[in-house]
Parts: sequence; structure tokens; C-alpha cells
Amino acid sequence: MAPAQNPIISQHVAVIGAGAAGLVTARELRREGHTVVVFEREKQVGGLWIYSPKPESDPLSLDPTRSVVHSSVYESLRTNLPRECMGFTDFPFVPRLEDESRDSRRYPSHMEVLAYLQDFARAFNLEEMVRFETEVVRVEPVNEKWKVRSKTSGDCSNDEIFDAVVVCNGHYTEPYIAHIPGIKLWPGKQIHSHNYRVPDPFENEVVVVIGNFASGADISRDIAKVAKEVHIASRAREHDTYEKPPMPHSNLWVHSEIDTAHEDGSIVFKNGKVVYADSIVYCTGYKYYFPFLDTNGYMSIDENRIEHLYKHVFPPALAPGLSFVGLPGMGIQFVMFEIQSKWVASVLSGRFTLPSQDKMMEDIISSYETLDALSLPKRYTHKLGKIQVSPLYYKYDYMSNHFVSKCEYLNWIAEECGCPHVEHWRNQEVVRGYQRLVSHPETYRDEWDDDDLMEEAYNDFANKKLISFNPSYFLESRT
Ligand code: FAD
Repeated sequence: MAPAQNPIISQHVAVIGAGAAGLVTARELRREGHTVVVFEREKQVGGLWIYSPKPESDPLSLDPTRSVVHSSVYESLRTNLPRECMGFTDFPFVPRLEDESRDSRRYPSHMEVLAYLQDFARAFNLEEMVRFETEVVRVEPVNEKWKVRSKTSGDCSNDEIFDAVVVCNGHYTEPYIAHIPGIKLWPGKQIHSHNYRVPDPFENEVVVVIGNFASGADISRDIAKVAKEVHIASRAREHDTYEKPPMPHSNLWVHSEIDTAHEDGSIVFKNGKVVYADSIVYCTGYKYYFPFLDTNGYMSIDENRIEHLYKHVFPPALAPGLSFVGLPGMGIQFVMFEIQSKWVASVLSGRFTLPSQDKMMEDIISSYETLDALSLPKRYTHKLGKIQVSPLYYKYDYMSNHFVSKCEYLNWIAEECGCPHVEHWRNQEVVRGYQRLVSHPETYRDEWDDDDLMEEAYNDFANKKLISFNPSYFLESRT
């Protein structure tokens, strides 16, 4: 899209959430000349990365009256991507070598990611825009503006009018529970990974973990350290799958998906194997959830498809006043937030324009038709950029109806708002990182074969003067 001829307009913008997406959105909006208020219901920035040792009271998070715990982070969690490709483009997530209390590993712990986000907020004075312990409870369009109702921890409610609202509320808090035929009568314990923290409660148990991607692979191995047996049910595997991954977990098996559960405690897998289990852990993902949003019925969620969003960011009839940063899952999340928020900020200022409402809808409908033609369910709509590790995963381009890597989506947006493409090394680190995760889930964080990419990344940081240490010296100490 060509730059608009309009003068730059400064808007008053509400951002919901001060996680990674909300923080970088606030920065980009302010850089573009907008005034910004960030609403954050927690006491600090960081969102998902604020570890809460106490999970929700309902292990499946089904009770609507439960008190919600935002974070899904478990105690042993380390990043599932190399740190250098995770960070924002001008604030690299590199080890803080001067501070011994920090985790300098290439795949660091969740505490290090929180510390990085705190560093980021500090470096750009972002906290001054944040209203902590203030929850947004309602957002609605009013006379071409947006009314935002917020509630403080003292239960004080406040209505304010904004020109625009950017939703950055995260999407890993509302669990999706896969249905298992017969589960109602099955007598064991059930928990969703959202409420998993430590393996101790599973000591000496027989445990079935459903899901075998990042969280499923981690949690099953965490539990296997203390459990009698752990059986992973993987939808991505052939029906006859029954494998024992190599040591060190001699008590771990991988099956195809579950067929049925029974009153006598048995779980029958599609491969015909029967296991008498004490617990089921659902690592089956999450649902998009915007309880505060009232768009007079214009927007809705159907089978986890948010209807309707142009390029996963703008609802055509409400754009650009309402936008969403951070919805598509997987891959280089922080950089995706950064690029999407640059787009939002520059459209709001009038530097760039969106296509007409009709054109945006046409684009959306055409992307739905392509999913239908491929017999892919609606819930895949925002699963952009999944690395092709199984026939179930796909890469799909919403512009040209082609399979592509996620970076093409990001590069398309980057071009829309005049910012650089995703770096070659970053894209490749994600692809190779996920390949390692799938092929070597036990060791992928500590053994790698992409020193060349790491070198390219650190040299890039040095050339752009984003780091103060010598990359050669640093890299030698790493290999
Ligand atoms: P969040 O971090 O969830 O932040 C949303 C914020 O909005 C929260 O602070 C919340 O309190 C606030 N909020 C919500 N509703 C309201 C409201 N109504 N009013 C006010 N405030 C509100 N990504 C990676 O890049 N690397 C990884 O290694 C990685 N590991 C992950 C591991 C797990 C287990 C999970 C679940 C995700 C992982 N991710 C990873 C993806 C991760 O979610 C993103 O990286 C990112 O941190 C999400 O940021 P966000 O800002 O979109 O959401």
C-alpha cells in the first residue's frame, strides 16, 4: 500500500494489556505521535511471563466463577526458541553478561524473559503509560469513538472515550479442552496445561498427556521424572503409532490420539493400546477470548476463528479504530507484535491507509474459501506459520492462497507500513529451531547445529550497534 498523502494525525489510543504485545504497541504508538493509555490488570508488566506458583482452583478452568490466573508458565519452562530470534528488532534479547544473576543460556528460563521485558519497558520508559491493577471490563463503539470502561482493584469503575483501541490481552489463558468420548464417566484427575506448574502431584502415577508440541513435549518429560508411566497422545501421529522415545525417559511412550475413556479408568488409544491412568493432562491449546468486547454483534468467535479480521489485525467495519496485536500463534511472536503494531500506529496516524471495507472483506472471505477447499477446520484460521512438522500443520498465505512461511505474512505487513523485512537469520533460526524441537525434544535447547545463524545474528546486532560486546569473543565462549 502506498503511503497516504494525509497529514499525520495524533490519536488518543487505549491499549489493553502490558505483556510483550501491549508494551511494544505502546512504544510504536507513541513513536508515531499518538497519546497512549495502557490498561493492565496485573501489578507489573510481562503478561504471560509473570510466573504464578499457584494455579487456578479449577484444574480445567471450566468454572466461570473461578478467579483467573493469567499465566500459563510452569516452573521448569525455558523458551522454545533461541533467545536472539525472540527479541524485538532494536532491543536484542542477548545475555546480560555483566549481571551474574541473569540466565545467559541460549534458551533461557521464563524468569529471564520476564527480566528482558522489564528491561525493555525501562529502556523506553513505557511504564509511565501503564495503569496497573486496572482491568478493562467493557469496550464499545460510540459515535465513531470508543468507550472503554475499566475497573481498578478497589472496584472503582471509570468510563473514558478514546479514538482507538488496540487489543493485546494475550490468548493463552482460556483453555481449550479436547473432547474424549466417554470422559464423563472416567474417574481419574484431569488438568489443563494452563494449570500445570510442577510434576510433584503426579508422583508414581500413570499419566496420559494429550498433545506433543512445545508444552506437551516439555510437560510429559517433566512429569516422567516422578511418574510411574507417561503416555503421550499425539493427534499428529499415524493411527498405529506406539513408540518409546530414547533414554533418559524409559517410562515414556508416544501413541496416536485417544479413542475412548472408560468408567474402569482405562484409556484406549487409536493404536489399540489400553492404559489404566490416574491423570490426564490436556496440552490441547487455548481459545481466543475477549469478554470485554461489545461490537453490537459485528464481531464473533466461531470455532476459534475470530470473525472477521483483515490479516488477523483489523475488523473491516470497525477499522482502524479497533485492532488486535498478537493473535496468530507460533514463531517469532515478539517481532510479529512489533511489525503489526507499527502497521496499526501508521494507519492510525494516516501515514498509510487500509483498502476499502469491501476489499478487506473480499480478502478475508477468499482466505476462508481456501481453508474450506483444503478441508481445514475453522480453528486453523489464525494458526499461521506452523512449521510443517506433520500433514496437520500447514503454512498458508492469506494474500495469494499459497503455502508460505510465516515471514511472508510479516514481510507483507512490513511493506504495508514501510519497515524492513524480517532478517534472514531470524527466519532460519525459527525454522531450524522448530525442526530440532520436533526431532530432539529432550536436547534441542542445549545442543544445536546452527552456529552459523547465531554468528550472523550477533554480527548483525554489532553492525547495527545494538550490543556493546564483541560478538567474536562472545561466540567463541559459547561454542
Ligand atoms: P500476554 O503476555 O498474555 O499479555 C497479555 C496482558 O494483558 C497480560 O498482562 C494480562 O494481564 C493483560 N490483560 C488481559 N486482559 C485484560 C483486561 N481485560 N484488562 C487489562 N489487562 C488485561 N513465545 C516466544 O516467543 N517464545 C517462547 O519460548 C514462548 N513460550 C511460550 C510458552 C507457553 C507455555 C505459552 C503459553 C506461550 C509461549 N510463547 C512463547 C508465546 C507467548 O504467549 C508470547 O511470546 C507473548 O509473551 C504473549 O504476549 P502477549 O502480550 O500477546 O500476551
